[in-house]
Amino acid sequence: MTPTNLLSNAPIDDEQLKLATERMENLQEELKTYIAQGSGPFLAAIYDDKGNLIAKAANSVVQAKCSHNHAEMNTIKQAEEKLNTFDLAPYNLTLYTTAEPCLMCVGGILWSGIKTVFYGVTSKRVEEITGFDEGFKPDWLNEFKKRKIRVYGNIAAPAGEKVLREYIADKKPVYKPTR
Ligand SMILES: [Zn+2]
Repeated sequence: MTPTNLLSNAPIDDEQLKLATERMENLQEELKTYIAQGSGPFLAAIYDDKGNLIAKAANSVVQAKCSHNHAEMNTIKQAEEKLNTFDLAPYNLTLYTTAEPCLMCVGGILWSGIKTVFYGVTSKRVEEITGFDEGFKPDWLNEFKKRKIRVYGNIAAPAGEKVLREYIADKKPVYKPTR
């Protein structure tokens, strides 16, 4: 049974959704350790279709002093370096990210050849909880569907929202450009 709060552009069976939910919960739990070490409150991982972990990285905008260093971008970069290619498509990879990809990361995923995306907390909730500006976005689920990229969102979102609320309660940096 597919939960009614799932945001998706493709079908999914119970077994796949269960695995994705478990991986997302683990990622959200692991994210706390990254935050404690100075990372931004977002973590991403890439798996191949045999279940092998290919890459994993957190947001490192503050540490690296680089506004591009979102978790998704860092993870895609790591995977491409590891597999020595700019085109991940032949590897049939799945990206997990603890929050919905922002405007930049939607573009980054599009360019990477990632085939499937699972995300946790929606951009709307990220903005409400943290004050980050996730950017305006096109109808990206449909645009991704046209390009045969499957997206499943709102996966284990309550656990992800809790981590974000703790991040803000701990007065960690909400890094963004001055407007
Ligand atoms: Zn991003």
